[in-house]
Amino acid sequence: MDIASLRSRTGRLIHTHSSAYVPHIRGSGFSCARCGWCCRNNFDIKITQDISRPSNAISIFPDDIRRIIKGTGLQWDEVAQPDIYSCLSDGDNIWAIGWILQRNDAGDCIFYRNNECTIYEWRPMICRCYPFFMGERDVEVMHCEGPGNEMTQERAGEMARILKRYEIKKLRSYIGIIGQLGDRLSFASLRALPCNYSGDVFVCDGERISNVRLARC
Ligand code: SF4
Ligand code: SF4
Repeated sequence: MDIASLRSRTGRLIHTHSSAYVPHIRGSGFSCARCGWCCRNNFDIKITQDISRPSNAISIFPDDIRRIIKGTGLQWDEVAQPDIYSCLSDGDNIWAIGWILQRNDAGDCIFYRNNECTIYEWRPMICRCYPFFMGERDVEVMHCEGPGNEMTQERAGEMARILKRYEIKKLRSYIGIIGQLGDRLSFASLRALPCNYSGDVFVCDGERISNVRLARC
C-alpha cells in the first residue's frame, strides 16, 4: 500500500463515526473468556514462501512500549524486540518493520503467566482490540473463544472507539515507516531473520530508527 492510499484510508476512518462499527461488534456477542488463546503461540501464518509468522507475534507501537515500561519498570528490550518476521535487507543492513512483544521460550507472550495477562492495565492497543480488526469494508472478527455471549451497547461502543483509534494510529504508523524505509521498501526483499541471527538490526517504527544488536533470536 502506498502513502496516498494510506492517507485516504486514514481520512475515511477519521470521518466515520465509531458508532458505525457498533452493530457488527455488538452482534458478535464478544465477552473475553480470559482463556489466553490469543496470547499463546498457536500456529504459524504463511506470509510468503519463506516467511511463517507465529499467530501471536504481536506488533506494538512505541507508545505501547513506553506505557508498559512506565507501568512495570522493565527496560525497552525486556518488553519488545524488532519484528524479526518483517525484515528487509538492502544488501548492507537489515531493517525491521516495527516492534513485537517479547515472547518466552515456548513462544507465548512473555507477559502471559499463570493463565493471565500480568500487564492487563498497560497492555498494548492491539490486545485491547482483539478479536476485532478493521477489514476493507467493516469490522472483522478473528479466532476467539469469547464471541457468542451478550454484549451491551456501551461495551460495544467503547470497543468501537478503541478500534477506530487503533486503526488510525496503525495507518499513521505505516505512513511513518514507509517514509523511513524509502526505496528500501520492496515486498520482494521481505524476509524473516533466522533463529540464530546475531548482528545489528535497524528498526523503523514510524517515530525513529533504532539500532538494535541482536545476540540471538
Ligand atoms: S480475546 Fe478471545 S482468545 Fe483472547 S483471551 Fe479473550 S476470549 Fe480468549
Ligand atoms: S500483553 Fe497481555 S493480552 Fe497482550 S498478548 Fe501479552 S498476555 Fe496477552
